[in-house]
Amino acid sequence: MQLQFFVRSPTHQTLTVTLESTQTLTLRHLKSSLLPNTKSISSFYFALNGKPLSDSTILPTPEILHLSTLSLLPRISGGGGDGGATGAESRDCYLKMYAEKKPDKIDPNEKRLGKWLNCALSFEPLREPCVIDKLGNIFNKETLVEALLGKKLPKEFRHIKGLKDMINIKLSKISGKQADAADGAMFQCPITGLEFNGKYRFFALKNCGHIVSAKALKEVKSSACLVCHKEFVESDKMVINGSEEEVAILRERMEEEKAKTTMEKKKKGELMLWMGQRIVVNWKGMKNLRMERNRVMLE
Ligand SMILES: [Zn+2]
Repeated sequence: MQLQFFVRSPTHQTLTVTLESTQTLTLRHLKSSLLPNTKSISSFYFALNGKPLSDSTILPTPEILHLSTLSLLPRISGGGGDGGATGAESRDCYLKMYAEKKPDKIDPNEKRLGKWLNCALSFEPLREPCVIDKLGNIFNKETLVEALLGKKLPKEFRHIKGLKDMINIKLSKISGKQADAADGAMFQCPITGLEFNGKYRFFALKNCGHIVSAKALKEVKSSACLVCHKEFVESDKMVINGSEEEVAILRERMEEEKAKTTMEKKKKGELMLWMGQRIVVNWKGMKNLRMERNRVMLE
């Protein structure tokens, strides 16, 4: 009798695992065949109905019923996966904390400036690593990923469906400013030194993630990033916290990209992979997936 169950990935993809009756497997082994390196192995855990499962659990086990769904979740430091609070619980606290901090009324001018200093989701001071979405909003990556996994994203950010919709950015710190300083800009343009405080226009270069001021891009005419020299084209420039019109253009571009991806996916159809221990893996939604030495890499 085969044991078949599903694994839901952190990027909300579903993987079907089929275990032949003659096979045994630990969850640790399963995890290592799904994740790219040892570092990521320790930062994820399996959970069944919200309850963390030990990595040493041997499959088949009566605990995991035929056709049940395991979630592969990122560990949150201080809880989850080790018999402490579950990830889901700490995530809820985390987001509740942010919800309480969000003030009711904000001066529009203050709100505009606030977007440059704070995470668009939590309103907490920007803290690296930061990401932008495809509309040019800036987030603390951890906050955004947590909200995404907990399905707590407000409507305005529902276009963010996975890591593929985030662009890792590299901000340039103003030297001497300490992390989480609540007094004004923490970051600056690495070329002109203009502060990242809402008074100047800034662009993110999509391919390398560097954040530079519009002034620098205008003054130094170049088709390569001014910091890392990676080539870029006009459409790789993403305006940060742009005007309504600029955001509308970014939104249009995002929709176009999405339509294109859907077409490509249809062409490829379903993918069957055969991996160690003859686990049959059947992924749907392959955009964030690539194979490397018989391992499935989540991106
Ligand atoms: Zn660069």
